[in-house]
Amino acid sequence: MENIIDATWEAKVSELFRMPLLKLIQEAAKVHAENWPDGDIQRCSLLSIKTGHCPEDCSYCPQSARYATDIEKHPLLPVDEIVAKAREAKDGGSSRFCMGAAWRKPPRGEQFERVLTAIKEVKGMGLEVCATLGLLNDEQAIALREAGLDVYNHNVDTSPDYYSKVITTRKFEDRVATLSSVRKAGMQVCCGGIIGMGESKQDRMRLIAFLSSMDPQPESVPINLLVKVEGTPLAENEDVDPLELVRTIAAARCALPRTRLRLSAGRMQLSREAQALCFVAGANSLFSGEKLLTTPLPGHSFDDVLVDIMTGSRSEAEKDPAASVSRAPSRAGASAVDEVLATRAPADRATDVIDAL
Ligand code: SF4
Repeated sequence: MENIIDATWEAKVSELFRMPLLKLIQEAAKVHAENWPDGDIQRCSLLSIKTGHCPEDCSYCPQSARYATDIEKHPLLPVDEIVAKAREAKDGGSSRFCMGAAWRKPPRGEQFERVLTAIKEVKGMGLEVCATLGLLNDEQAIALREAGLDVYNHNVDTSPDYYSKVITTRKFEDRVATLSSVRKAGMQVCCGGIIGMGESKQDRMRLIAFLSSMDPQPESVPINLLVKVEGTPLAENEDVDPLELVRTIAAARCALPRTRLRLSAGRMQLSREAQALCFVAGANSLFSGEKLLTTPLPGHSFDDVLVDIMTGSRSEAEKDPAASVSRAPSRAGASAVDEVLATRAPADRATDVIDAL
């Protein structure tokens, strides 16, 4: 493969990955404050508009037809159902709505036309609209742009070197060609990766170096933590240290100063505190709702509290401390203090916190 990572960027990002974590986070926080003075956290929603039966073999994905997984498959949703979900997402605080379909590439004819209609309608609701539909040619990219699509998501997932260990039905270069069609059509690029697929630190570094080498750099970079779904080849992978996720985000923030870094799949495996650290390290968006395509998310109520703690986004009148704490979902990452508080009346909480500690 021709070298698609700029040598200067590779050297810079490599240096970032070698920094002590505390120093790296401090550097990232400086870059973040300079480039995102409002310090907001954008909330987005992603709806699977066509689930399962995908011919591709991405080893992490429960939607591949090659793996026996327990997901609810469905054909392409009708437009009114997509629009209803977009309205729900907007009401839940999302300003960006993304539609994902499990295709190698969008089919021609009625189904593609239906997606174009859905894009027009969601755009008309005042939401930023994004789609992820697989590989595109120039003509499809132009049609999506003309329908009002703002952003196209097409993740490269990992470094060019590790790509064939994760996916064999397409090449890294195929992804790069689609990204180029998206740019030519005048859309923004959303392109990111997944941590925890068995890749080395060098692969994580080269993923970020690749994204940094893109000219212009992607406006949006989702960073996912592998969700190990039973039935997929990566189901038994070893857990990755959440601090490696934090390191990747901090390096990405330094190298991609104006990019929205999106904390994406895998948040259910992270404590609330680890998620908070990701925002300290430079993430400034999260996927909200109950699901990210087919894997679970903490939910709107949990996100209300987390985003408010990090940004002070809600007014005092909107805050209800009793409701806030009890809304945290029961999940592996919930802290002992959260669990205790969730079951107790406000008056008893001070004593409970002391006991829990
Ligand atoms: S990640 Fe996308 S392309 Fe790969 S198997 Fe899943 S749905 Fe198909």
